[in-house]
Amino acid sequence: MTRIAVAGGGIGGLAAALHLLQAGFDVQVYEQAPRIGEVGAGIQISPNAARLLIRLGLKSALDRAGVRPQAVHQKRWDDGRTLQRAPLGAAVEETFGAPYYHVHRGDLVELLAAALPPERLHLSHRLVDVAETGGRVTAQFENGASAEADLLVGADGIHSRVRHILFGAEKPRFTGCVAWRGLVPAERVRHLGIEVASHNWMGPDGHVVHYWVGAGRFMNVVCVTEHGAWTDESWTQKGRVDEALARYEGWHPMVRGLIEAFPETFVWALHDRLPLPRWSEGRITLLGDACHPMLPFMAQGAAQSIEDGATLAAVLTAMQGDVPAALARYEALRKPRATRLQEASSANRIRFHLPDGPAQEQRDAALAASGDRSMANIGWLYAHDAGQGT
Ligand code: FAD
Repeated sequence: MTRIAVAGGGIGGLAAALHLLQAGFDVQVYEQAPRIGEVGAGIQISPNAARLLIRLGLKSALDRAGVRPQAVHQKRWDDGRTLQRAPLGAAVEETFGAPYYHVHRGDLVELLAAALPPERLHLSHRLVDVAETGGRVTAQFENGASAEADLLVGADGIHSRVRHILFGAEKPRFTGCVAWRGLVPAERVRHLGIEVASHNWMGPDGHVVHYWVGAGRFMNVVCVTEHGAWTDESWTQKGRVDEALARYEGWHPMVRGLIEAFPETFVWALHDRLPLPRWSEGRITLLGDACHPMLPFMAQGAAQSIEDGATLAAVLTAMQGDVPAALARYEALRKPRATRLQEASSANRIRFHLPDGPAQEQRDAALAASGDRSMANIGWLYAHDAGQGT
């Protein structure tokens, strides 16, 4: 039986392990942290990823933890006008065969980890080196342990050690965008009467996204601004609510009300990387942010990492354990789509942050004219089944 080592127990690594196990492979996950966990923030799971998680048997867990938004609103920053309300909810589920969820990141990794047999998860295992000899891969960990496998998958995030070992040192790029995030308890903002939807407020040099998570107990709010001065990537750096508020001077009272309701805020600089020429070398490959980190402006980074794992399991099954051939196919199937999403995410940075003027008017007119999540508009993204078509 093909033995597979997955380095990294984030959303991508855990989902890949579950897909690979379901396909009958012998999988072990090595995570550097002493426990599985995530920062207090939300994540959007669109139908292309939801259908894969459902196939892993996670539907009832997602239904319990998640919120099903009824729509996506694109809004104007100052007067709060909805420029486009595209239905999600039942409409998107009927069209694409899977729901759209909003989930707390902690809940998502917990439900993924709970589905993995505990003996297959090795915590406090930070991969420091990996080498391939004689058709076998050996991984070395900081704690002195080592592991042998027929395939190693680097699902170790934007600072991937595996990527560094395969393709050399290269720092992620600071995109120039800085984000503040907050999780607002529902009781603080219930009076604002905010629809159970995804709300994207677009304005000069910034945008604000918010949606309900934690089965409706919290409003997840992320405020992004063009602000070159802050470059710290840490997700746990506390920020100041008054600084965030100052940046959104003149924005609609609902945006300011949400920021004012932050119990605390975290600030971090958004980074990405250019598309890699290739993802694999011999019996070692990459997955998720390790190979295609992107700005979060298509809400697709985690979804794409979930798709990667489904495709990897499918091609390994189809190629009956011929690992190098399967990795070539994996890359051929996955790279164009992930690259398209990296580019679309960067393009949304420009679209979301336009100053008022002719380009913004053009954008708003286009939004008003094509206001739905129909097969024609978003089918390429939501209808895709990454576990099929190998
Ligand atoms: P990570 O989540 O970074 O996980 C990597 C794991 O590897 C970690 O657990 C880490 O501890 C471990 N690790 C690292 N190095 C080692 C090592 N040497 N050895 C062992 N383990 C190691 N995506 C969406 O799909 N929808 C969204 O709505 C969305 N919103 C976002 C909002 C923001 C503000 C941001 C910044 C991102 C958003 N994303 C979203 C993107 C998404 O968060 C990432 O794409 C996703 O978390 C990547 O998962 P991953 O498993 O590849 O990497």
